[in-house]
Formats: sequence, C-alpha cells, structure tokens
Amino acid sequence: MYHSNTFWILHAVGTYEDTIGKDYDDEAAYVLGYATWSTLVYNETLRDFLATSTPTQGKVYVDILEARKRVMFHETLHYFLGPHGNTLTELGIMSGNCLYTSEDISITDSQIARIQKQPRPVISTDVIL
Ligand SMILES: [Zn+2]
Repeated sequence: MYHSNTFWILHAVGTYEDTIGKDYDDEAAYVLGYATWSTLVYNETLRDFLATSTPTQGKVYVDILEARKRVMFHETLHYFLGPHGNTLTELGIMSGNCLYTSEDISITDSQIARIQKQPRPVISTDVIL
C-alpha cells in the first residue's frame, strides 16, 4: 500500500497461509485473509476451511472462487472501515458470515458514507475517523 492524501495504491496478493497456529492445520484457529501493507488472501487455509468445516445448520458455503473474491473484498474494506468491533465492520461483506451463499454481502449506505469520508486507505488500527 502506498498512501498520501492526494494519491494512494492498494494491491491484493493471493498467498498460501498465515503462520503456524493461524493456518487451520491441526488446530481450529485460522485467518482467511489479512489487511496489512497488502491485502492478503490465504488460499490454502481458505481451501481447507471450505472443505472441512461444517456450516451453520441450513447454510451453504460459496465455492472457492467466490470465497477468494469475498475475502479479498472484505479485507480491503478494513482499510476504510477499521477493525472489527464497530457496527460498520459487522454488516454485509464485513460480517463473519460472508462466506455463506445466503448472506447479503452488499455494502450499506452507512459503510459507503464512511468510505467517502476517508481521504485514503489506512491500516485498520490507524483509521481516520
Ligand atoms: Zn475482517
């Protein structure tokens, strides 16, 4: 990521997995993507998660191609909406349920308003309010 108030660039990278303990190998802990200096999408962890975890009853996960897009979109929006824990980061594509086919993944009016207020993307702990 490069950012200033007049010019910014974001890029997304498909990667393998996060570190041991967060890679869904032999443990329940996992991270499917991350918003740092690049948006990272952990393809191996995502594949393992979709293949082996059990969706909430009655729900169905999207396929891997759709899941990669949703994780990339979700993580990239963290640059504009901040970390989880506020109402803007729990709705639609930002919801923890965004990999279900039945989930509404649209961006809400309040999320759009927040994005439009921010002059540039920032790493989530440094979000401009
Ligand atoms: Zn998130």
